[in-house]
Amino acid sequence: MNRVIKVLKLGASSGRRGAGRGRALVAGGAGFLGSHLCERLLGDGYEVIALDNFHTGKRYNLTGIAGDASFTCIKHDVVDALPGDFAVDEIYNLACPASPPHYQADPIHTFKTSVLGSINLLDLARRHGAKIFQASTSEVYGDPLVHPQPEGYFGNVNTHGPRSCYDEGKRSAETLFFDYSRTYGIDVRVARIFNTYGPRMQPDDGRVVSNFIVQALRGEDITVYGSGTQTRSFCFVEDLIEGFMRLMNAPVAPQHPVNLGNPVEFTIMELAELVVDYTNSRSRIVHRPLPVDDPRQRKPDISFARQHLGWEPKVALSEGLAHTTAYFDALLGGRRSVGSRSAARSSVHVAVGS
Ligand code: NAD
Ligand code: UDP
Repeated sequence: MNRVIKVLKLGASSGRRGAGRGRALVAGGAGFLGSHLCERLLGDGYEVIALDNFHTGKRYNLTGIAGDASFTCIKHDVVDALPGDFAVDEIYNLACPASPPHYQADPIHTFKTSVLGSINLLDLARRHGAKIFQASTSEVYGDPLVHPQPEGYFGNVNTHGPRSCYDEGKRSAETLFFDYSRTYGIDVRVARIFNTYGPRMQPDDGRVVSNFIVQALRGEDITVYGSGTQTRSFCFVEDLIEGFMRLMNAPVAPQHPVNLGNPVEFTIMELAELVVDYTNSRSRIVHRPLPVDDPRQRKPDISFARQHLGWEPKVALSEGLAHTTAYFDALLGGRRSVGSRSAARSSVHVAVGS
């Protein structure tokens, strides 16, 4: 922890705070998306404060930026009152476990994280006139009856199932964001993120892309839940972070949530076959029970982001899988089987911290 946490720099200055572009606070900054976001903000000239309780985030995700004089990381649970009255220009709320096994492990805390965490951060934004971003989710559409899903679709969501702590928590957070905007005039930006993958997912994260790649690299059975005919659309992390920046920097704040995701749709069986082929794995594809309320299909309608943010994903699944496979291969100690086809195709170098 000492390697990461530096002396907390508090206090307001006139105009934009901190050096360069201003000061940004990233809640959930040690996580998969949060660590990429912190890196991007530092690269863009922001001073960055990350808050994280390290539930699913890892210190080694921050290895590349821990020594940056403009970066500070504080261990904190956003459910609790903030550890300081941070004078910031921008706030990004990414704090919340995103993988079903992790968010279902302590469902009440997951719900509190979305609701109380949002309130704590929205109050901070209000006090300092900061712009605030919410990492919402395609889960607000539940098991959708409209396909693909446009932002105007209200969803088909169970209020009392095992996924509800996450889905309803995120839906409540969206409500809070727009109510704070209408009530106090604060500038809110809400992204509905569809399945995103890439380096720095945890190998035991439980989500499908990391599960399949890790299983394939280890030669273990690839676990397809249900028949594998359910669909998802997979966005590479770099594309998503660019979408965050475009949404946050749009001159006019959209008065509604904005879908960010890759509209190319795959069945889960297609993904499994792609990963087996890509890693040249000896793994067998096996079937396991489908989790309760598992959405049958999911694909974003990104017309709004295309038209108003000039954003759409650029990285194809095959290219994103190459980067992600190289990352997990390095993390697992290079266990990929000899003669892997992907090893020849991928020249991606990935540095992994300890
Ligand atoms: P992640 O689990 O890697 O990151 C979440 C981070 O938040 C972790 O660092 C975790 O330790 C931290 N955190 C969790 N609860 C906290 C709390 N109470 N206080 C402080 N920190 C806390 O997941 P991710 O994929 O990086 O997701 C980041 C955000 O994006 C989440 O809010 C998630 O709901 C949202 N999202 C992600 C995806 C995706 O496909 N990756 C899709 C939809 C929405
Ligand atoms: N899934 C699977 N095997 C796994 C993990 C997930 O078949 O090892 C399925 C899961 O049932 C769902 C899809 O893959 O249909 C995406 O799951 P994930 O947990 O990644 O995201 P979410 O369900 O939240 O979209």
